Amino acid sequence: MHQPISIAIHGGAGTILRENMSDELKKAVLDTLEESVRAGYSVLTLGGDAGDATIAAVKVMEDSPLFNAGKGSVLTHEERIEMDASIMHGKHLNAGAVAGIKGIKNPIELANTVMKKSNHVFLIADGAQRFAESQGFDFVDESYFITQRRVEQLNSMKEKGLFALSESKYPDDRKHGTVGAVALDMQGNLAAATSTGGVTNKKYGRVGDSPIIGAGTHAENGNVAVSTTGVGEFFIRKQVAGDLAARMRYLNEDVHTAAEHVIHGELEAMGGEGGLIALDATGDIHFAMNSSGMYRAAIDIYGNVSVKIYADE
Ligand code: ASP
Repeated sequence: MHQPISIAIHGGAGTILRENMSDELKKAVLDTLEESVRAGYSVLTLGGDAGDATIAAVKVMEDSPLFNAGKGSVLTHEERIEMDASIMHGKHLNAGAVAGIKGIKNPIELANTVMKKSNHVFLIADGAQRFAESQGFDFVDESYFITQRRVEQLNSMKEKGLFALSESKYPDDRKHGTVGAVALDMQGNLAAATSTGGVTNKKYGRVGDSPIIGAGTHAENGNVAVSTTGVGEFFIRKQVAGDLAARMRYLNEDVHTAAEHVIHGELEAMGGEGGLIALDATGDIHFAMNSSGMYRAAIDIYGNVSVKIYADE
């Protein structure tokens, strides 16, 4: 039987309002989302691995200043850049994750190297840096990651003593600009990857859901691949990505039902704002969000490309 391929990506969910979005920003976001999803899809069409497809897609967004991952990451309270990333491959349930890393241009590459070249799943801060050095990673100066927009966002949040704004100065001030990808390859492998700078004004080595397998990222062949974005404190407690997979595995829910249940159920009731992308073993894609928007794109099993921003699209 012909094995379908498909891919979906996100560039973060949250409060994204039409009235605050300039035409220039909208075009730049849509163009980069399309570039990202096509980068991942071209790996799949060449017979490449689902994990490699997710990495190719995520790297495009890490390299863009428009998203909160790699270049363009949000700033910590101490005006530093501390990034988190994770990847899971569904064939053998292998996974790799890093948290609180500095100076690594593409954190998703380091998470992938943890998965492939270490005996561990999750490395943090200084230890992850030493592992990166041992694996020959180049370090870039912190100034590479910092954008004026993130400096202004930090100052604005410090004034209010918040780590999420209640009033928007930028169209995506309350958008959680984490990036992620899920892919299904010609071998039937599912993979998921997520990368983030976390939340603006974070303190004390705060880590969100993005690098946590089963919260921000999850993939298992024959079932589903999931990447999430939102307020990590809620997504960790509801184990969002793993819960979605469990609903499909134990309750036989389809990907649409399971994803809607997870995002609009107890998570929403608790106040957990955000969204997710999910891709099942047949290549069926679902985008779920309880926020006003989520930057997202997909190429489905028929090769149809879609790129969207708002929840009502
Ligand atoms: N989930 C991320 C975190 O809490 C934030 C985001 O989605 O942008 O670190």
